[in-house]
Formats: sequence, structure tokens, C-alpha cells
Amino acid sequence: MNLNEIGEVGLIERIKKKIDTKDPHIIAGIGDDAAVIKSDGRNYTLITTDMLIENVHFTLQAMSFSQIGHKALAVNLSDIAAMGGVPKFCLVNLGLNKKIRVEDVDEIYKGLQALAEEYNVKVLGGDTNFSPSGVIIDMCVIGEVEPEFLCLRSGAQAGDSIFVTGALGAAAVYLAKGKYFPPTPRIKTARAITKTVKVHAMIDISDGLANDLHHIAKSSNVGALINIEDIPVFPEADTELALSGGEDFELLFTAPDAEKDKLLREIPGKTGTALTCIGKITGEGIKIKRGDGKISLLSLRGYDHFK
Ligand SMILES: [Mg+2]
Repeated sequence: MNLNEIGEVGLIERIKKKIDTKDPHIIAGIGDDAAVIKSDGRNYTLITTDMLIENVHFTLQAMSFSQIGHKALAVNLSDIAAMGGVPKFCLVNLGLNKKIRVEDVDEIYKGLQALAEEYNVKVLGGDTNFSPSGVIIDMCVIGEVEPEFLCLRSGAQAGDSIFVTGALGAAAVYLAKGKYFPPTPRIKTARAITKTVKVHAMIDISDGLANDLHHIAKSSNVGALINIEDIPVFPEADTELALSGGEDFELLFTAPDAEKDKLLREIPGKTGTALTCIGKITGEGIKIKRGDGKISLLSLRGYDHFK
């Protein structure tokens, strides 16, 4: 069977079935933004990994080496944010070839290190290899979260309000211009949110709002109804880009409707990050209310690595 027959999601489901994840220390394994491990301490350990490949996730024409280093860490920090946690350490694996100069590697680390310092993340080590076809930067970030602040994808409940941070479609607008949009990992915002209310489910928007809403709904076994007119759209983007454009790395989360006013009142002031309620979690079906008031199914969009 070819990979394109099942796609990325199908492949992950298949691997999940073949792997034994039953262990009293594993709170969450495959299928969330980061794995959650319980060890002897009070806090849970978070572990996440993300790989960037030249000409898949970046091009050397559109991005500087420093920006590649920034992006590699930012996407991992965003996954730690989505779990409600704080990043601590990282490992960096590089695939390089002879066209890459030593100074280019210095630049990768310069971009990475600037972000690492901002979030107090320490580089522990990594691996360096020859990559014949293009640059690869693969990172693993380790963080931690107090059990009471842990946010999984699977806790959304019917009646919850659905929120997004920031504005969506920025990365897609920049990409269309051949430019890099440097995402802000929403660590501080996620921490402020989890300390203000009990978040039921959270994910970072890496695959686009439509797909990531599907991820929450599927994991939580619920539906959703969002209002197209409430989606915060980045200037120059449109609602379709906001729904389908990936890599904005904003947060998408659900919380009890009774907490809605408190969140909208307190979070922007505490964090400097915009917060918008875009709809509600329902019993079933992932739907969108259009401008004319008509409600239709919100289809999956965006990118599958193998289709
Ligand atoms: Mg994620």
C-alpha cells in the first residue's frame, strides 16, 4: 500500500495501533501536541518533537538560516504552549551537506538561541548528520506542566465556548509573498489562560483553524459550530486563508461558556494577545455559520504530507 492511500492521519493511526502505549507513567502519548509523562515529581514532563525539511517546510530563498533556527524552535515551543506547559530544554539534530557553510550553521544557532533565551530554554545537545538532498533541522523540546494546568485535546464538552488567540492567516499571507512570518509561541498567553479558567481542550493552530478544530472535536468526541464572522482575520488575509492557512501557531481552545466574559475581559490585558470567541462546542458535526446565516459542514482543508 502506498502512503498516499492513507495519508498522514491514516499513517499515524496505523502506527498508534501497532505501538504499546500502556504504561502507568504515560498520561498522553501519540495524538496530542506533546507527550505527557508522569515521573516522581509533582509536575508532569512534556516531550515534543518537530522536523523541518528544506523545500518542504522552508526554502533557502525565502528564509535566512537564522530564521530557520527560529522556526525550528518556535514550532516546538508552540506545542508545549498548547499543553499549558513551560519549555525547559531542547535537543537539536541537523542534516547538512557540503553546500552549507560553517557560518550558516552559526546563523541557525543564532536564531534558535535568541528564542531559547527569551523562553529560558537550554540546549542539551543533539546529533549532526550528512543530508544529501537538503537541510534538515529536527528538534525535541522537553518541558513541564503542573497537573492542574495540563490541557489535552480531548477534554472539550458540549456547551463550551471556542476561543482563538491573535489573528489567523498571517503565515499564509507572508508565504504568498515568499516571506517568513515569525510566529510567537503563545507560552505566556497559554499560561495566563490556564491560570484564569479551567481550559477543557487546547491545540496550537499548525494545520489551519478548520483542521485543528477537527482534531479537538475528534479527540473529544464532540462537534462544533463556529461563526465565520467571528473569526479574527489577519490584515490582508481572508476568512478562507484564516480557515485553511497553517503555521499561524495561535491557540485554539475550549472553556466553559460561563467563563467566556472573564476570559475576554482579562486575557488581552494580561498578555497583550487578542482573544476571540468564535463559536461553541456541540454534540456532533463540525459546522460553520456563514455570513448569510446558513449553516454548513466545515470540511477538512490544508496539507497532508503524503496526499
Ligand atoms: Mg501542535
